[in-house]
Amino acid sequence: MKRPFNFGSGPAMLPLKVLEHARDELVDWHGCGMSVMEMSHRGEEYTSIHAEAQADLRALLDIPSNYKVLFMQGGATSQFAMVPMNLLRGKTSADYLNTGVWSEKAIKEARKFCRVQVVASSEDEGFTRAPAFDAWKTDLGAAYLHYTPNETIGGVEIFPVPETRGVPLVADMSSNILSRPIDVSRFGLIYAGAQKNIGPAGITIVIVREDLIGNALTDTPTLFDYKLCADNDSMVNTPPTYAIYIAGLVFKYMKAEGGLAVMEARARAKAGLLYDFLDASDFYETRVARENRSLTNITFRLKDETRNDAFVESAKARGLLQIRGHRLAGGMRASIYNAMPIEGVEALVDFMKDFERRGAPKPR
Ligand SMILES: *Cc1c(COP(=O)(O)O)cnc(C)c1O
Repeated sequence: MKRPFNFGSGPAMLPLKVLEHARDELVDWHGCGMSVMEMSHRGEEYTSIHAEAQADLRALLDIPSNYKVLFMQGGATSQFAMVPMNLLRGKTSADYLNTGVWSEKAIKEARKFCRVQVVASSEDEGFTRAPAFDAWKTDLGAAYLHYTPNETIGGVEIFPVPETRGVPLVADMSSNILSRPIDVSRFGLIYAGAQKNIGPAGITIVIVREDLIGNALTDTPTLFDYKLCADNDSMVNTPPTYAIYIAGLVFKYMKAEGGLAVMEARARAKAGLLYDFLDASDFYETRVARENRSLTNITFRLKDETRNDAFVESAKARGLLQIRGHRLAGGMRASIYNAMPIEGVEALVDFMKDFERRGAPKPR
């Protein structure tokens, strides 16, 4: 079977080795006669899977011991509400950076719980760059500062970690977590839905400094309280066991491949290939500012946008799937997370050259 290259933004490709591993033990995990899906979440088989997944994620990201790793549900979207519910800690306002669609959604949800101060926005520039750090109007009295280090739809990434002078930094890393090493100690809280660079949809990762939890709003539902989740080892109720198991296999795969430094080198090689091609082209373009070009979600356009449908259809015929940009952004987008091999990006660039050759007006 020849698998296509899937450039979808999420749910996204998983490493083939992980899928094959899961297939091989689908009906009988380690000789116990049960599928992971059938196990009690309190039984010793599943609890070992759960603990290993946590330990492997800690090892990959080198998470300090004063941080809790939570496996939650509801996707990154549910964190838009859980963050203010848990992190206001008696304060009345929170700072938010606006760099695109996902920041806007986080801001809208947070407004239900507190006064949101937008420290800076790149909306006027069509979200093609992130506002420069020195233009952020931050407030030292804010409960936290929230930002989206990688805007999945716009393809805008912020590389240096902002300095917040003691205000806890909260990051929605749904689409760039595990794409490179990070210094977790610079953050108060990191969250990510799994279906981009981790595993199947259904599990949401939260990494939170332990001194920030335990002060949730009084009416916070049990399942949304980070402290209760942490104290119960992410098993207040039944966790998404199979999704956690697959995520655990992905963590083991990443460790075996050499860890996050290797993932970063691969990401830079893949993204570099595509951006270099775009920069040299008169037929395609990318509008994202150079310093904010995402390594995982590469947005680009055909200069002649009337050819968009033909481009998407021909790509599909070549086994290059899901290349159309998000409906809110238009254009094209290649999502190239860890599971996308460089061969996929090479095939895309080859296709784009061919399409240009066939699509350009014929010289007379
Ligand atoms: C995909 C995405 C989300 C939404 O994730 P869900 O798991 O569908 O809720 C939020 N933020 C970012 C940056 C994303 O890429």
